[in-house]
Amino acid sequence: MLYDMATRFMSEEIAPRYDEFEKNEMVDRESWRKAGAAGLLCASMPEEYGGSGGTFAHESAIIEAIGHVGVDGFGIGLHNSIVAPYILHYGSQEQKKKWLPKLATGELIGAIAMTEPGAGSDLQGVKTRAERDGNQYRINGSKTFITNGQLANFIIVVTKTDPEKGAKGTSLIIVETDEVEGFERGRNLDKIGLKANDTSELFFNDVRVPTSNLLGHEEGQGFIQLMQQLPQERLQIGTGAIAMIERALALTIEYVKERKAFGKAIIDFQNTQFKLAELKTEATIGRVFYNDCVTRHINGGLDPVTASMAKYWLSDLQGKVVDECLQLHGGYGYMNEYPIARMFRDARVQRIYGGTNEIMKLLIGRSL
Ligand SMILES: Cc1cc2nc3c(=O)[nH]c(=O)nc-3n(C[C@H](O)[C@H](O)[C@H](O)COP(=O)(O)OP(=O)(O)OC[C@H]3O[C@@H](n4cnc5c(N)ncnc54)[C@H](O)[C@@H]3O)c2cc1C
Repeated sequence: MLYDMATRFMSEEIAPRYDEFEKNEMVDRESWRKAGAAGLLCASMPEEYGGSGGTFAHESAIIEAIGHVGVDGFGIGLHNSIVAPYILHYGSQEQKKKWLPKLATGELIGAIAMTEPGAGSDLQGVKTRAERDGNQYRINGSKTFITNGQLANFIIVVTKTDPEKGAKGTSLIIVETDEVEGFERGRNLDKIGLKANDTSELFFNDVRVPTSNLLGHEEGQGFIQLMQQLPQERLQIGTGAIAMIERALALTIEYVKERKAFGKAIIDFQNTQFKLAELKTEATIGRVFYNDCVTRHINGGLDPVTASMAKYWLSDLQGKVVDECLQLHGGYGYMNEYPIARMFRDARVQRIYGGTNEIMKLLIGRSL
């Protein structure tokens, strides 16, 4: 039921305006508010904090709807299943009461700022510094490639509270951007895909926040918190992947039945049938694997290694399927008016963010 409702919402509210959002390089705030009013923000947060009381399966249904409708740049997946869970899992009662209801309505739009110009894969190299000054933290540093970076007014910032201690000196601190001075947004970065999503540089120049904005009971917990939450972030990238794989196949099967060459439909060529047979088989394997990961995750048993496998394998498969499907569209596949062209551009980043696929293999390799 939630999937149907989310599909209707994305088809009626977001899809008709998607070209405009791509041109503006962001979805407008009003759409976030509407998503909140429709119950599509914080679906897995408890009702007492303004959420819908669901699980990751509900978040998955919403992200699948986004992928199946083809509005992949609408960044509510990150807000729902990455940002909000940090508050739920590590926030104090007071923090949860203060922030989660506003995240659920869309009054607050969430982002997580880990990556810096000099630290991406190697997160231990983060330089952004948070120094204690009385009952405040003073934050200095810069971040880049931050999803929802232009719209977000609620940012989880990965900082070093004790640079001497490396990973153990890492802390997550909330910056409510409407409340502070010294915070600046850089450019909305010019990407090759996911055009409707704002991705930005962020600058922190002596930004002061209360020490109560620290996530967790004590400093130095940031790296552990990140490691604990990354499996869900990685699984969520798999959700987007499987949804796009299924959409690419459905659109392509429809297309090759219509389009003719040498007096017959493209689907009548054995090459087309064999290609699509292979892709459909792999998509089915992907769907079974993905569903198994979700089942394990909601039962508390998705280990980080399997989550890394899901991120890497499903996003690799997505790249392959979208590329082969574009090929079956011929020249029309290269034209932006055909959805497969946008999917080709949007798919590429899936192998890069959330930890590159090489880093996923590194993590899997370490477990052998
Ligand atoms: C559109 C977009 C949205 C993003 N959203 C966010 C966000 O919301 N928040 C956030 O914090 N970050 C975000 N990122 C950043 C993203 O997570 C990083 O780009 C990614 O982790 C890679 O880091 P990097 O770009 O510094 O690449 P690098 O770390 O410089 O890697 C370059 C290459 O070297 C490889 N490499 C690096 N180390 C190893 C190794 N040990 N072994 C083998 N190969 C290695 C990598 O796999 C890659 O191929 C986003 C990025 C993009 C493009």
